[in-house]
Amino acid sequence: MNAVKEPSFRESVDLMFNRAVALMDLPPGLEEKIRVCNATYTVRFGVRLRGKLHTFTGYRSVHSEHMEPVKGGIRFAMGVNQDEVEALAALMTYKCALVDAPFGGSKGGLRIDPREWDEHELELITRRFAYELIKRDLINPAQNVPAPDMGTGEREMAWIADQYKRMNTTDINGRACVTGKPINGGGIQGRTEATGRGVQYALQEFFRYPEDTKAAGLSGKLDGKRVIVQGLGNVGYHAAKFLQEEDGCKITAIIERDGGLMDEDGLDVEAVRNWIASHGGVDGYPKGKYIRDGAKYLENDCDILIPAAMEGVINMSNAANIKAPLIIEAANGPVTAGADDILRAKGCVIIPDMYANAGGVTVSYFEWVKNLSHIRFGRLGRRQEEARHQLIVDELQRLDAHLGDKWVMTPNFKQKYLRGAGELELVRSGLDDTMRAAYQAMRETWHSREDVEDLRTAAYLVSIGKVATSYRALGL
Ligand code: GLU
Repeated sequence: MNAVKEPSFRESVDLMFNRAVALMDLPPGLEEKIRVCNATYTVRFGVRLRGKLHTFTGYRSVHSEHMEPVKGGIRFAMGVNQDEVEALAALMTYKCALVDAPFGGSKGGLRIDPREWDEHELELITRRFAYELIKRDLINPAQNVPAPDMGTGEREMAWIADQYKRMNTTDINGRACVTGKPINGGGIQGRTEATGRGVQYALQEFFRYPEDTKAAGLSGKLDGKRVIVQGLGNVGYHAAKFLQEEDGCKITAIIERDGGLMDEDGLDVEAVRNWIASHGGVDGYPKGKYIRDGAKYLENDCDILIPAAMEGVINMSNAANIKAPLIIEAANGPVTAGADDILRAKGCVIIPDMYANAGGVTVSYFEWVKNLSHIRFGRLGRRQEEARHQLIVDELQRLDAHLGDKWVMTPNFKQKYLRGAGELELVRSGLDDTMRAAYQAMRETWHSREDVEDLRTAAYLVSIGKVATSYRALGL
């Protein structure tokens, strides 16, 4: 038994919050106001399935309403409980503030194992849960806007949006009641992979600063770095895939529910994902070394560790054995407050969840704006931009003809330059910009203050500062 008790997820978030506010000068009472969760609604509802009435328990927690709507995903998992939903809602508040997404924080959860139910049953359950939340304005484009999380995706979001539409037939902004919808149901290009893309952009930005890279005991660029990924779900898969295919990283271990795979020469992310899809797990994958106790691979030697599965996987029982000099928290709360102390003391650099996985909510923000403006991004300007580029290309071509062999236009230049930005390009550009700006705000605090030792404390300082400013503007 550990002499010091492992804090719960919510206690962990509070402990990390307290560490940061101790370094701030907040007016009395405001600290408490920001920390506490405003309200958590618990609902128990019945759905008749397979000839019998089944009762389900769901939650929607609202952490902070300093800005509305409040925002945050809905997860479907057996482990869902009030403590978890409240911790996740608090993280949403800090996350949105850090990346300047104009929302308060919220989170929802339904205690269910989605794999136990078929699609039609899941639809009935989801619609019923949504009904309970919609009628209390806990799903509403102006007040509370859910999104996907663990165990949910665009299919569930489409059911929720449709349920809202049925109950609010004249709300012209109804589609903005939920984000992460399919493209043909009011979604936005690039939302599905947004969290994984954000993890990639976060790492790219980190490696732009030799001073920060050095703080983690690393050097050089992302290219060639050995990466371990835990969880090949939506977030882990996209992060690992982009890092492998676009940044030259080597994925040396993949940890999944049923075990871990390791290959120092690098695993093919796409092939492993396909294997999981057809075999239900990583066991039996023809390459690499498989072990049933996959969590052991968290302790392998590597450059970057990406926990992308769930909370608490790096805790006081394994933190001392973690060898990764750099951890990027793609999941919410994967490192407990106790483990954070141990890792910090070892000199490990942790890129914290509230920043690392903020790509999802950032693109959700773009989707919400798109729904409210009722127009696709790029629709007005794209052709005009292309026409202006055409002018320059025509001019360059004239020069090309005039100068003959003395100057030759770069092959492909015309094709690349002529293409105006469509929705996907704009979403990526907005996400990249957001991830860079938020990182810069964190590192500025990290390096400019003697009393700030780590990026997590810096992230809390930046975000709590922004929430406090909003409260002050409200006269509180
Ligand atoms: N569930 C995601 C998160 O934890 C996305 C939330 C959203 O897009 O509102 O950040």
